[in-house]
Amino acid sequence: MRITDDRYSRDRRRLDLAYRMIHHEARTKTIRIWTGLSDDRIRKLYRSYIATHGATVCRHRGKSPTQVAYFLRNLETRRHAAALAGLYSLFGLMATDGDEPVVGGALHWGELFCRTYETYLTLHQPQRISFEHACYLLHVLRRRAELRPDPCPRCQGLMIVDTLRRHGSVCSWCESEARERLAEPG
Ligand SMILES: [Zn+2]
Repeated sequence: MRITDDRYSRDRRRLDLAYRMIHHEARTKTIRIWTGLSDDRIRKLYRSYIATHGATVCRHRGKSPTQVAYFLRNLETRRHAAALAGLYSLFGLMATDGDEPVVGGALHWGELFCRTYETYLTLHQPQRISFEHACYLLHVLRRRAELRPDPCPRCQGLMIVDTLRRHGSVCSWCESEARERLAEPG
């Protein structure tokens, strides 16, 4: 009986997670890895999601994002990337010994990531960073090869630094302040 209950609740959690990810327009491959559900079941969930919400949801099947420049292209995306990095750290996703997603064994990871991403959406509207870009950002930050979080030398606020080509020496807030000062007449 206990095993059946556990299995049922695990299955329920998988479906709930897949539903949340469909809502955030995650790629099918990411949904499959994190939930362990088959492509066929994910397809059926898409159909049921659309039937329930009467909305069109974009189903991404293509390649995942692979450009770190995306996060540094302007002040607003830099600000949002820094906000996400702060939340990743707060929710424990940055720990290097944290669970890396593996097929079917990433349920907890997926739930935690969704909660983190949903917190970002609540705090930062309109959203600048899609679910898949947010996944990629976490991946890159955990590797610390191309991007890493760093304190701003002026205000000590968290900023994202390009480890190869230090993009902007201060955080996006300090930089926009400096730009405003320059724009002031006299
Ligand atoms: Zn600053």
